[in-house]
Amino acid sequence: MSTSAESLRVIENATCTFCGCVCDDMVLKVQGDRIVEAKNACVLGKAWFLNHHPENRPLATIEGKPVSLDEAVERAAQILVQARYPVVYGLSDTTCEAQRIAVAIADWIGACVDTTTSVCHGPSGMAFQGVGEVTCSLGEVKNRADLVIFWGCNPAESHPRHMTRYSTMPRGLFVPKGRKDRTVVLVDVRRTKTAPAADIFLAIKPRKDFEALWALRAIVKGMEVDERIEEETGLSMAQLKDLAQRMKSCKFGVLFFGMGLSMTRGKHLNVEAALALARDLNQFTKFYIKPMRGHGNVTGADNVVSWQTGYPFGVNLARGYPRFNPGEYTTADLLARGEADAALIIASDPLANFSQPAREHLRRIPYIALDPKETPTTRHATVAFTTAVYGINVAGTVYRMDDVPIRLRPALPSPYPSDEEVLRRIERRVRQLLGHPSSVHP
Ligand code: SF4
Repeated sequence: MSTSAESLRVIENATCTFCGCVCDDMVLKVQGDRIVEAKNACVLGKAWFLNHHPENRPLATIEGKPVSLDEAVERAAQILVQARYPVVYGLSDTTCEAQRIAVAIADWIGACVDTTTSVCHGPSGMAFQGVGEVTCSLGEVKNRADLVIFWGCNPAESHPRHMTRYSTMPRGLFVPKGRKDRTVVLVDVRRTKTAPAADIFLAIKPRKDFEALWALRAIVKGMEVDERIEEETGLSMAQLKDLAQRMKSCKFGVLFFGMGLSMTRGKHLNVEAALALARDLNQFTKFYIKPMRGHGNVTGADNVVSWQTGYPFGVNLARGYPRFNPGEYTTADLLARGEADAALIIASDPLANFSQPAREHLRRIPYIALDPKETPTTRHATVAFTTAVYGINVAGTVYRMDDVPIRLRPALPSPYPSDEEVLRRIERRVRQLLGHPSSVHP
């Protein structure tokens, strides 16, 4: 590793892809093959950049043995074309360019295509399809929001720069005094590290979000609500009426919600209630709602799969047209029921976080894994590719959690190919094996 002062390079406006905030104001100092400073990064972003070090793994393996890229691509393509019920999964930690090739492969082989959204904000995706989303960009929040509500999320720990860069602290065009011009509310089952940053903390009973949101809808519309709502939700009538009044009288309100809403009892019904509340509030003021997305490009995965199939995740392409049915076509369920007979897993580690039946079935079937680092999933893969890290080694496009696309500025070269490159090679070979060699994916 070089440490000479001459080799110090500075990359301005680099992008952190560690979380859905996708902060694009990083100033990275690079010395030799290491990033030695990441100015503007939060504690998570610093760990992401400064702990990046060159891997010492083979380019590709088949059943754990190092092989050439060509051999691995051949075996991967053979597995995929011979499968009867393959699944393509992951995608939230790679570029949109790689995601679109993965969807194309799924289309050629008639696979289910699914992303990690199905195990985090999948219920939100279902609710968006059912109710719609009153949406805005984080730039609008920064410049206009005078009421910011966090519901079932903890940005102080999960998205450390969300509040300072976008939502509560910055001065904006119509909120010139920044934090002083805003009211910040946190609704959660416990006092998290976000609570001290809020003006109002509302401690809701666990699994009672739907009831509280539905009561708020009624209060906003001027309807009577049963006094027993406090016993039911833990929120008093006075607290609910105060919140409803603040929502109706603000100039620009926004509700950010996390998995405390989408992954607790009620799931998509909770999110539907929140979306409907935001929609109702637009009879009185401007009010918006956004999910707090976790992985760096999970929003890109939703967008890319939606462009290409019409649905964001859990899509079956076996009949030559897309069918959307979470629970049936989502990877964790397909594996747990023992249905999938091969898998292509991109930048994800299902062997570390799926249910035991799903993990056991995945270990039984042939599958291909692409990942920059070694994980339980890459260790057990029939074919494993070591790939370059998006954002650090690889350029491309990612989507911030508010659906704004951002271009990556990589800091370091990598000896490994990008996910996009590996997937393009697999797609080309799949097409040849299927007898469509001249078809070109745009
Ligand atoms: S908030 Fe998220 S995207 Fe921004 S620097 Fe921290 S980890 Fe990176």
